[in-house]
Amino acid sequence: MIMQEKKRVQKIIELLKQEYPDAGTRLHFSNHLELLVAVVLSAQSTDEQVNKVTPELFARFSSARELAAIDLEELGELIRGVGLYKNKACHIKGLAEKIVADYDGEVPGDFNELLKLPGVGRKTANVMLAVGFNQPGLGVDTHVKRVARRLGITAGKNVTRIEKDLKQVIPMSLWSESHHLLIAHGRAVCRARNPQCSECILLELCERVDGNHL
Ligand code: SF4
Repeated sequence: MIMQEKKRVQKIIELLKQEYPDAGTRLHFSNHLELLVAVVLSAQSTDEQVNKVTPELFARFSSARELAAIDLEELGELIRGVGLYKNKACHIKGLAEKIVADYDGEVPGDFNELLKLPGVGRKTANVMLAVGFNQPGLGVDTHVKRVARRLGITAGKNVTRIEKDLKQVIPMSLWSESHHLLIAHGRAVCRARNPQCSECILLELCERVDGNHL
């Protein structure tokens, strides 16, 4: 049973790879700290919104120490264009302070250490590993959750369970890529509203859970 499911999911990943050969992060960054800040900012905001505020923000610091020194109010103003900016300003200042205090100014490349940083949950830690440190990571965001549930890969409702279910059927070497592919498909075809099932390349493989989408 599990072998069959693994084969189905592998076929899904293969088809998605063909459909989205350039799937990857759209966030702009040039080092680990900028990536971490961008991923924290991206929660409940689009990558486009994040990319609009980060040039001015990134121009204000070149190290965690400099980031930690930015006044909270100014930090809030710099990121005002993204959702929940006040909370995120607190998290960004807090994570910069912790990186200076506990990690000698360097973003840690370890999942459990990343989780200790303010504002960093499993999704952010997984994206940091996958995109920043080239290690296996499969972050579950709103697109991954929706598409994986509709496809019937998971029945989980919380991200920890969904991440576990996905990691069980997707080979570790494909975790990072699968994250980007599921997001790409969620944005382009399997949208929250009006998923385009009749045009979907996964139609034959999809269980269309939650859906009367056709
Ligand atoms: S068939 Fe429909 S529900 Fe299934 S993945 Fe495609 S768009 Fe999403």
